[in-house]
Amino acid sequence: MVADSTSVEQINKIFESQKANQYTVGNTTVKERKAKLKALKKAVEVTFRKDIQDAMMADFKKPAADVDLSEIFVVTAEIKHALHHLGQWMQDKSVDTPMSMMGSKSYIKYEPKGVCLIISPWNFPINLTFGPLISAVAAGNTVIIKPSEMTPNSSAVMRKIVETVFNENEVAIVEGAVETSTHLLDLPFNHIFFTGSPQVGKIVMAAAAKHLTSVTLELGGKSPTIIDETANIKSAAKRVTWAKFFNTGQVCIAPDYVMVHEDKKDAFITEMNKNITHFFGDNPKQSDSYSRVVNQKHTHRLVGYIQDSVSKGANVITGGQSNESESYLAPTLVTDVPRDSALMQNEIFGPVLPILTYKNIDDVIGEINAGEIPLALYIYSGSNKNINHIQNNTRAGGTCINNSAVHFFNNNLPFGGSNNSGIGKSHGFFGFEAFSNARGVYRQILPGALEFLMPPYSNLKRKLIE
Ligand code: NAD
Repeated sequence: MVADSTSVEQINKIFESQKANQYTVGNTTVKERKAKLKALKKAVEVTFRKDIQDAMMADFKKPAADVDLSEIFVVTAEIKHALHHLGQWMQDKSVDTPMSMMGSKSYIKYEPKGVCLIISPWNFPINLTFGPLISAVAAGNTVIIKPSEMTPNSSAVMRKIVETVFNENEVAIVEGAVETSTHLLDLPFNHIFFTGSPQVGKIVMAAAAKHLTSVTLELGGKSPTIIDETANIKSAAKRVTWAKFFNTGQVCIAPDYVMVHEDKKDAFITEMNKNITHFFGDNPKQSDSYSRVVNQKHTHRLVGYIQDSVSKGANVITGGQSNESESYLAPTLVTDVPRDSALMQNEIFGPVLPILTYKNIDDVIGEINAGEIPLALYIYSGSNKNINHIQNNTRAGGTCINNSAVHFFNNNLPFGGSNNSGIGKSHGFFGFEAFSNARGVYRQILPGALEFLMPPYSNLKRKLIE
């Protein structure tokens, strides 16, 4: 299934209609915005739930239970959180007034940015499109959404949902690939929220610079997982298996590779193998709990990474079976992976886990710090001293201690990267803030001290100013 691209004329028309409507949407009350969010919740959770599950099965055989957890639950949880807090988020926030400014009051008014663009990826089509949409709507913006062209069935359902819940001059979906994005990026949006690769993130930021449009960039990269000599290996392996092979490893915060203390390597591999078999059976291809890679091109890319690493000395110790025409790649563990091979030079974004060993934790820290700042860094350890040492000497967008990827689910935490893994944060208040302008408002009530210091300057005034 390939959707028709939205024409340039149609995109321009939607943009102009949203621009004209932005103050109407921006002046909606808490109650009105909540009504929109409730309607979106009902559409995702009830009316279109089955359509979403079917679409994602058609797009990459994503099991319905995975869809429920990582698409529907995540979206409805974000809406519930916004419904609970929106009244408070939208209130003006008083700030202190210095003595020298007596006779005035100051406050922060969170006003909508205006007309916003959301460009989303394919790996969690609903979650990563409607997640930012919830924040944008909560903050009172109009929105144009451009979902990924790689999951056309999911995009088609999202279109139906958006058309059911919103008018086109409030929220609209446009479809298409690079050409469509390129045209959208020429328009003077007030904010762009992009989720995707660092390479495309740079294109988005360069385009935004032409209009000095603010950006939130939710990007990717290699997220390391450290398992030290004090870690509980059994639970670490279970949690890493889940986080790595969920959605076939096509998760921006999946553990990209593991650095395990050399004394624990064998125990860790034994436990990983037990979990892989427990989760997906002896033949994961037959498992209805294991999805496919999104398409043949990405399967070919992943098989190529494995081949390159093996040609340089790596060993595939588990999995490795693939069928490119069916976009299938088994859960795969690889050891002895050279640092200059494809598996360690690229974000893997698939079901392949390099397992590397270390003796000295400072070597691991040095290696991580020599690369780009990761979107996530995971630490499995029973030692607070080790945990603090690793945290205090590295940088990462987010971290889980003794777990992986689950920080995404807590809407009280900011979610996002730093530098190459992203700019700005999303989820909960942080998402609302990303789509808002914090307008600083100063209100004069009584004559202020400054008035006594205005020209002409007498000697007394000069002394006071000094
Ligand atoms: P991508 O960057 O290829 O595409 C993302 C979106 O950008 C799509 O809608 C696509 O149509 C559009 N696009 C592609 N090329 C473009 C161009 N030249 N100009 C303008 N727009 C363009 O990413 P992807 O393959 O869909 O997703 C995988 C990447 O996304 C990984 O790097 C992953 O880590 C990252 N990701 C990050 C997060 C996060 O929350 N930080 C979440 C999911 C995925």
